[in-house]
Formats: sequence, structure tokens, C-alpha cells
Amino acid sequence: MTSPLVAPAAEEAPIVIAVENVSKRFIIHQDKSIKDRLLHPNRTRKHAEDFWALRDLSINIDAGNTIGLIGPNGSGKSTLLKVIGGILAPTSGRVLHRGRIAALLELGAGFHQDLTGRENVYLNASILGVSKEETDARFDEIVEFSGIEKFIDTQVKFYSSGMYVRLAFSVAVHCNPDILLVDEVLAVGDEPFQNKCLNKIREFQEEGRTIIMVTHNLSQVTDFCTRALVLGQGNVIYDGAPDDAVAILREGFRTIEEASVVRERLERERAREEEAANRHALGKITDIRTMPSRTPMHPGDDLEVEVDLEVARDFERWNLGISLTNGLKQMVLMTTTSRANPNYEPINAGQHTIRFALPGLILPRGEYTVSAAFFDETHFEVHRLDDAGAFLAETDDRSAGMQYTPAAVTVS
Ligand code: ADP
Ligand code: MG
Repeated sequence: MTSPLVAPAAEEAPIVIAVENVSKRFIIHQDKSIKDRLLHPNRTRKHAEDFWALRDLSINIDAGNTIGLIGPNGSGKSTLLKVIGGILAPTSGRVLHRGRIAALLELGAGFHQDLTGRENVYLNASILGVSKEETDARFDEIVEFSGIEKFIDTQVKFYSSGMYVRLAFSVAVHCNPDILLVDEVLAVGDEPFQNKCLNKIREFQEEGRTIIMVTHNLSQVTDFCTRALVLGQGNVIYDGAPDDAVAILREGFRTIEEASVVRERLERERAREEEAANRHALGKITDIRTMPSRTPMHPGDDLEVEVDLEVARDFERWNLGISLTNGLKQMVLMTTTSRANPNYEPINAGQHTIRFALPGLILPRGEYTVSAAFFDETHFEVHRLDDAGAFLAETDDRSAGMQYTPAAVTVS
């Protein structure tokens, strides 16, 4: 059973829940088939089967965390919450906790059907260790939050599931718990109430309380949780970043082995992204300027393009490309330092200006922009700046299209 935790050594974020080698076995009694009963009439009608809903789980939870507990149906989420909440005893192992736990588990759990809402508030609060005087003091607030004032003196057996949840959540959060356990029940409430609950959960987070929530709404996990556990067949198949946990679940992985394949892939992807980010940090195109020999440009005019580049290290081999794009987003011309000058020099860390001379351009009329990209020795694109330097080209309209030429005509 759940018992108080001994004082931790750590100063910051003490462990508030310690699940130690917890296993939970259910014994499932199944009726034998008619055939079995005919063949073996003397044996008992039922046969019992062991079912391990939780298999040797060890989890430490630090104060102030919001843990998302996710996994397919039957993976053991509710069982784990009940064991943490002390509602179920583990078959082996133990759970230690520090502080007051309020649990919002199955629908109607902790509610007595024949009692009214009001009586259940007192009953529930007392189970959570709140005195009658304290409950008196908070009663109005509890009822107001629940929004079921009109039914507070009705027996709860006449409540809808939404009304149950409203009252149960309200009692749970007004009992000043250090640890709040919430099973999927929240989904039963209507949207305004769900939002109200989520706001309350945010408030709890800010106050440094610890929350464990089971939800099938995976965006709640990424939005609210600081850590997520994915359960599969009674095992923790993933424990870590909510984004990764959700990715693992979305891809339908159910075993530790399957999840570890995804985890490794996610780790590789992250390592690649990190490496790319490091490489992207090595160079930056800070400006592109275009200097036509005349404004607007006319066919045959020259264009000079200046690209300001800042690099964080020396580059023995490098390449910088520019492209001219017309108003239809079509690339009309591109060149690179290596095309324009195969013998260009290495560059040192620092600021550089790379000048391209583009003489005698024959461009159709229109607006153009220039993009530039800087590549390292492995042709990795370190940085690019799109559609920066803009300029206009003008023609005498003797031709139109992707090319311009001063078309002439004779008729004979
Ligand atoms: P989840 O909440 O992830 O859907 P549960 O923790 O409710 O899963 O259940 C885990 C497994 O344990 C399921 O296969 C369920 O059928 C079984 N189980 C849960 N409670 C009992 C019980 N009281 N008796 C027998 N089996 C149970
Ligand atoms: Mg469940």
C-alpha cells in the first residue's frame, strides 16, 4: 500500500512518488466452454488465470512535474494510478509518496450512490483527509466550481456521468492536494468544463504541485506534461519527453523492443537535427544587394550582385550560389562562385562580401529578386537568404516570355 516517503537527500525537486518494483496480478475467472463442461463434468465450472496488469514497474516522480500516462486500452494505466493512489494494493513491490493525494479515477469511484451530492462532498473530502470544518469553509467554492448547485441535494445515483465528474473533480482540487491523479474521466465533461479543469491543472502546475494524468487526448500530453510514460502490456515502454512519447504511441508501438526502435530513430533524428543546427550556425548571409548599371535595367545592361557573408570558421572549400527569380517565381539564372571562378580562394572566419558581375543581361520586363545560399565543403547548405535584392527590368516590349530579344519584322 502507499505509505509516506522518508525524507530525501536531494535539496531540489524531491521525489514525491516512488514506485518500486511494482507488479499487479489479477486473477481472471472464466466460465468454461460447454464442451469443456461436458467432457470434464466433475471439474469446477470456472478456471482461473493469472493476468499481470503491471510488470515490475519502477518509477520516480519529482515534485512539480506533470506526468502524462498514455498507452493503449488495457495497458495498465488505470491500474497504475490506483496503485499509486493506494486504492489497489500491488501484488509485489511498493509505492511511497509524500503529501496529500487526491485521485480522480473511475466514474463514481469514492461516491456513495444513495447519498446526495452534498453528503458525498463531505465523505469524499474526509477520505482525502480534510476535516469537516475545512470542508465547511470550502463547500460553496466546491459547489460553484462544479456548476451543479441545483442538484447538490439530489442522490448521486440520479447524476449523469458529466455531473459526477464535475463534482468529483471539484472536490479533488479543492482539497489542497500535493499530488493529483486524474484518469480519463475528464473527457466525460463538456468542453467548457474540461477547459475549466485544464485551467485548474495549469494553476496547480504553477503552484508546484505534482500531477499524473491519463488521457487519450495526445495534444494535452504535449501541451501540459513535463514528462510522459507510455505503458504497453503492463510495462513502461517509454519514459521521457512528451513529444517522443506521443510519437511512439501514434506509431502504434506496444512493446519495449518496438518502442526502443522508435526511440533510437528519434535519437538519431535529433542528433542529425542538432548537427545540422551546429552547421547552420557556422555561416550566415546577412545581406544581398543588387546594383544594375541603370535603373530600371534595360536589355544588355550589367548587374552586380553583392552578398554579405559572415562565417564562424575558416572554409578551405566552400561555395556560394546566387539565383535570379522573376515575378512568377521562376529561376531565370543561377551561378555560383565555383562556376564563375573555379580557382576561388579559401575564406577565413569573419565578414566577407562576395561580388558577382553579371554583364550584358537580356531580361524580359518585370520585377526580379535575388536569393543566395552558402555551402560548406560537403555541399551542405549552411545558410540561405531568399528573395532579398530586388530590381526592375524594362524593355521596349518588342518581345515577351522567358527571353527578351529586340524582335524585328519585315513583311514581303
Ligand atoms: P487501461 O487503463 O490502460 O486501459 P487497466 O489498468 O484498466 O488499463 O487494465 C489493465 C489490464 O488489467 C486490462 O487487461 C484489464 O482487463 C485488467 N484488469 C483491470 N482491472 C481488473 C480487475 N479488477 N480484474 C481483472 N482484470 C483487471
Ligand atoms: Mg483506464
